[in-house]
Amino acid sequence: MALHVRGVLLPEDEVRDIWLVGDRVTLEPVAGAETIADGGFLLPGLTDAHCHIGIARGGTPITSLDQARELAEVNRDAGVLAIRDAGSPYPYPELDDAPDLPRLARAGRHVAPPKRYLRGVGVEVGAAEVAATVTAQADAGNGWVKLVGDWIDRGVGDLAPAWDAETMTAAVRAAHAAGARAAVHTFSESAVEIMVRAGVDSVEHGTGLSLDLIDVMARQGTALVPTMINIRTFGGIADQARAKFPSYADHMLALRDRFPEVVRAAHQAGVPIYVGTDAGGGIAHGLAAEEMLLLHEEAGIPAEAVLAAASWRAREWLGFPGLVEGGLADLVVYPQDPRRDLRVVRAPDRVVLRGRVLR
Ligand SMILES: [Zn+2]
Repeated sequence: MALHVRGVLLPEDEVRDIWLVGDRVTLEPVAGAETIADGGFLLPGLTDAHCHIGIARGGTPITSLDQARELAEVNRDAGVLAIRDAGSPYPYPELDDAPDLPRLARAGRHVAPPKRYLRGVGVEVGAAEVAATVTAQADAGNGWVKLVGDWIDRGVGDLAPAWDAETMTAAVRAAHAAGARAAVHTFSESAVEIMVRAGVDSVEHGTGLSLDLIDVMARQGTALVPTMINIRTFGGIADQARAKFPSYADHMLALRDRFPEVVRAAHQAGVPIYVGTDAGGGIAHGLAAEEMLLLHEEAGIPAEAVLAAASWRAREWLGFPGLVEGGLADLVVYPQDPRRDLRVVRAPDRVVLRGRVLR
């Protein structure tokens, strides 16, 4: 059964007719197709480019495929039709082609330094084992590896890089040799400097970025997934840590406070930015729209650029082609122009995933 949709297609900004045949898009008319939307604004769905399907609220690893499915569904019902899982303690490759779930780009488990990171989440290894662990985790994922580039070092009382520069550079090289792209968690100034210069593919959070490094990222095409919604929780993290680790607490607050400026500078420099929430742990799933609004309202990124960062450009980046001839049959329809009022993205009129109408 073919489907037909008519509306203003973004980013083309033209009224178009689109047909969906199975899981493919065609711009050639298909006789007898059922019209499921006529009017409104069409996008190839939202993307959450940084969330954790394998981590339940509160930071506990999930223990069943059903839980993974449930969390993926929460995203889907919010119009998120493609997900990059930025590290999962629970493997769920069985869901890669699930007909009723978002497209999945997955990292394996986080590769983290010993005894510093969230308990039970990462594979914790010393410098000597990092490269081999990256190779193994590239295999466990389907195209991405996640490195924990820094975390609190309780001995130092502040954020500190996970390993030395040589080890982290070798980690990126190992990911690439295994055919995977490398994403790195960084909050601090020191770790992000090492990782950007090591040629990592995407910086997650990146609160410690300097203007110089932003320029390097723009030149290299290194992506930034700011997760602004998560950085807002730094106040709570600082409060909890202050008694024992006052320097760390102050550092986290300073990073939080400068972050909207950092994201704005990165956008203006031409760094590719993508929408990610870091859901799983402190942030609930299904909040991609809220992250979009923060990028717009706090970092001042124009609505159309935020839409690109959440939708067509993010999908292209992850390898899920959008509403083009031969593209994948995912789309959302909004009743009003999201470029005029971005809040529209909170409530799609229609959601179609893999050629099936979900709403
Ligand atoms: Zn994360």
